Amino acid sequence: MGILEVKGVNKRFGGLKALSDVNLSVRENTVHAIIGPNGAGKSTLLNCLVGKLIPDTGSVMFDGQSVLGRKPHEINQMGISRVFQTPEIFGDLTVMENILIPCFARRDGAFRLHAFENFAHEKDLVEKAEAILVDVNMIDKRNMHSASMSRGDKRRLEMAMCLVQEPKLLLLDEPTAGMARADTNNTIDLLRDIKSKRDITMCIIEHDMHVVFSLADRITVLAQGTPLVEDEPENIKGNPKVQEAYLGE
Ligand code: ADP
Ligand code: MG
Repeated sequence: MGILEVKGVNKRFGGLKALSDVNLSVRENTVHAIIGPNGAGKSTLLNCLVGKLIPDTGSVMFDGQSVLGRKPHEINQMGISRVFQTPEIFGDLTVMENILIPCFARRDGAFRLHAFENFAHEKDLVEKAEAILVDVNMIDKRNMHSASMSRGDKRRLEMAMCLVQEPKLLLLDEPTAGMARADTNNTIDLLRDIKSKRDITMCIIEHDMHVVFSLADRITVLAQGTPLVEDEPENIKGNPKVQEAYLGE
C-alpha cells in the first residue's frame, strides 16, 4: 500500500476526457515523478489530489483516508502540501513573516494580521521557523523584504512555507519551469537536501528530464490522460512507448 493510492480516476471537461482510468500508487518516503507531454493531464491529476478538482469517478486515498469530498484546506491538514508553478509568497512581508503565516495558521486554524504584533513572544513558532530557514539555507535572509529576492530564493522561501507545515506528502508542479540551468540545479540540490533531512514523500510533475532523472525513485508516464508505464528511471529512459508519447511534442 502506498501513502497515496489513486484508483480508477476519470475526469472530463465537457467533451474532453482529461483523465481516463488513472491508477497511481506512491510509496512512502520516495520521490515519484509524473511525466508526460503537454496536455497529458498531469496538472488535472494533481488538482484532483488537493481538492481543487473532484474526479467524476474513482478514489483517492491518502494515508488510509479518502481525500474526496474534502476541501483543499482540509486535505492540507491531512498532510498534503503543494508548491505552485509560480512562487506564491507575500512580497510586502519579510522572509520570516512569510514563514510565520503557515505556522500561525496551523496552530490557530487561521491567520490574523495582528498575530505579527507580538510574534517575538511566540518563541516556539519563531524557533520552528528559524529551524526551517536553516534547513533551506535562508537564515541570513530572515529580515529581507521578500519581493526583492531572486527567483531562486523565492522558490526556496515557498518551499520553506510548505515544509513548516510538516507535510507527509509534498506535491510539486513543474518546480523548475522557466528557470535557467543554474537555478534548476540549485532546486535539485535543495529538494535532495530536504529529502535527506526528513521523512517526506514527494510527488513531482516535471517536464525537464534532467530534473526527473536526478530526483525520481519511480516514474509514471501519463499520455492522453492515461498512465502508459510506471517504473524505475533506468527502465523508463529507453522505453519505446515513452519515446513515442513524446514524439508529437
Ligand atoms: P498537463 O498538465 O499534462 O499539461 P492538463 O492537466 O493541464 O495537462 O490538461 C489536460 C487536458 O485537459 C488538456 O487538454 C487541457 O486543455 C484540458 N483542461 C485542463 N483544465 C481544464 C479546464 N479547467 N477546463 C477545460 N479543459 C481543461
Ligand atoms: Mg500542467
